[in-house]
Amino acid sequence: MAVKIYTSKEVSQIMESGMISYETHMRIREHIKPGVSTADLDEVAREFIYSKKGKPAFLGLYGFPACICTCLNDSVVHGIPNKKDVIRDGDIVSVDLGVSYNGYFSDTAWTWPVGNVSDEARQLVEVTQQCLFKGIAEAKPDNRIGAIGEAVQKHAESNGFGVVRQLVGHGIGKAIHEEPQVPNFGRRKDGIKIRAGMVIAIEPMINAGTYDVFTDSDKWTVKTKDGKLSAHFEHTIAVTSSGPVICTLPKGASINVFEMMGHSTAKAAGKQTAGVSV
Ligand code: MG
Repeated sequence: MAVKIYTSKEVSQIMESGMISYETHMRIREHIKPGVSTADLDEVAREFIYSKKGKPAFLGLYGFPACICTCLNDSVVHGIPNKKDVIRDGDIVSVDLGVSYNGYFSDTAWTWPVGNVSDEARQLVEVTQQCLFKGIAEAKPDNRIGAIGEAVQKHAESNGFGVVRQLVGHGIGKAIHEEPQVPNFGRRKDGIKIRAGMVIAIEPMINAGTYDVFTDSDKWTVKTKDGKLSAHFEHTIAVTSSGPVICTLPKGASINVFEMMGHSTAKAAGKQTAGVSV
């Protein structure tokens, strides 16, 4: 399957979809607190996305039974929201969601620290988000796809963390999953050349321990093999001749998940990487 090249008009439609995805995350974030179940978060997402005339892109995708994927702590991705997963103080909660709007798709994930998280959790969340922005900065014409993975992998591993190998980012636009695959590991000389008009979802999944994962008995939830924490951040990016544009984050929006979750003593989780316009 060929890699699609989108016009600037189509990119603006992907951005409209992306803004609904972003707003959905911000709405969900308000509900992430101890005592709330992941099923409650799915309900918040469902109502909000439909109220914006969007469609939850994950619902029914390959048979997935919910609007969003929710993962606590050692769950990596593809967790099914349910009433038994009740958020507790000290958890990290990853939420991954996609929206389709007027035929265009966006896909984005955030990991939220709840209350008093461990130092390891704090560092993992910070580094994973930094990995995402380092990957985004490489999404520019004439680089190869491998430049993204190399940047992500270097930053994760230099902090002692593991990069999940079994799942990767992807092209996106008229469908939620398109070519090419966008690994979070590799070398800058690997993969196809990046061209203006490409739209990709970059989504590092970083483990506090080793990169090994397994699929739980529910046939969906991917978890770390060593039971250590995992974090996940994702943005949908449009490549332009002047560099990457983030479709799932409004210009100037905060990305400091600690401040956004009301951690008063939080140190900054990193400013937006220079060279990335949003
Ligand atoms: Mg994705």
